[in-house]
Amino acid sequence: MSKNPLKNIESINLGGGHRMTPQRRLVFDVLMKSQDHPTAAEVFMRVKNSMDSISLATVYNCLDTLVSAGAIKQVNLDREPSRYCGNLEPHAHFHCESCSSVLDIELNEGAEASKSVIIPKGAKAEKFEVAVRGKCPKCARRKN
Ligand SMILES: [Zn+2]
Ligand SMILES: [Zn+2]
Repeated sequence: MSKNPLKNIESINLGGGHRMTPQRRLVFDVLMKSQDHPTAAEVFMRVKNSMDSISLATVYNCLDTLVSAGAIKQVNLDREPSRYCGNLEPHAHFHCESCSSVLDIELNEGAEASKSVIIPKGAKAEKFEVAVRGKCPKCARRKN
């Protein structure tokens, strides 16, 4: 299970007059249960198991709404489809360059990126994304 302080989905304020629909709830649930940072297409495959009638466009829509409501996170990798993360605790991402899996990296308390970078004077930082690249444990074990 991903850590998410939003245990009670009903408490999520989607904003902009968006209501928590069964589709959105399902997409949210799938992400809470996934730790592998699925892409929209992968979320769609998983959601489809529970709701056969859902379309990929609806899944994209739900993901967008949940991301803008701050209920889930979008993880962007260069030149790769966005992935989605249900872990809202401050954390960084580890990108495996061999199998392109994405793992969560826990941050030590007080060690948020905001404290270890120097932002240009006068600039206002709104979010920090820390990405570490390399080989995941599985790929590191495998000797080329
Ligand atoms: Zn994550
Ligand atoms: Zn790997």
